[in-house]
Amino acid sequence: MPHQVTYALPPAPVVSLPLVGSEARFPVRRVYCVGRNYEEHAKEMGFTGREPPFFFMKPADAIVPVASGETVDVPYPTLTQNFHHEVELVVAIGQGGSYIKAADALNHVFGYAVGLDMTRRDLQSDMKKQGRPWCIGKAFDASGPVGPITLAQDVPSVHQAAICLNVNGQLRQTSHINRLIWSVAETIEHLSAAWALQAGDLIFTGTPEGVGAVIRGDVLRGDVEGLESLNVRIV
Ligand code: MN
Repeated sequence: MPHQVTYALPPAPVVSLPLVGSEARFPVRRVYCVGRNYEEHAKEMGFTGREPPFFFMKPADAIVPVASGETVDVPYPTLTQNFHHEVELVVAIGQGGSYIKAADALNHVFGYAVGLDMTRRDLQSDMKKQGRPWCIGKAFDASGPVGPITLAQDVPSVHQAAICLNVNGQLRQTSHINRLIWSVAETIEHLSAAWALQAGDLIFTGTPEGVGAVIRGDVLRGDVEGLESLNVRIV
């Protein structure tokens, strides 16, 4: 008989994302995020030039899974007066590795989805000024809504796709994935040198220009050409 573990408390459930065209779900392990990965967004945040990519994380249970055709409520978080949207291409890792080379990196990708790196901008700015960690600005509950994952093989054009975010039907962010400072493949190369990637990891690849505040009642629609839309309502 294998030894049966008895937990003193019920273990937290596995966070998972829906897949396009399958009943199976993608189990989320870790959530990595790239900072300032579009030039125009770096400029609007007060930075210029191509710096090496840098990373922060969200807890897996900050992910809010959003199914196709669904609009999911996202609570306006505590402690902020400046709650910002950042629409991003999210990469789902299917095969892990360390020191993955950019030339081989896309073989490690399971699929892609649209995500929102929701941000308490006022708290993030305070932490930056004080040289403190960004967690309170970036890694709070429900800070990462993500739509259904499309298999990589079904969306080979994603690296040239348009990306945009509408709030209440008005365009707020628009760009193209080929304007990423560090491409998906290069991001995986850098990231996998710092952490051993594993199947189930997500990577938020960075947001283009046009970030801004939302308020309760706003309806957000994120799109990347070729992927399912992501729809949430701030409540
Ligand atoms: Mn971001």
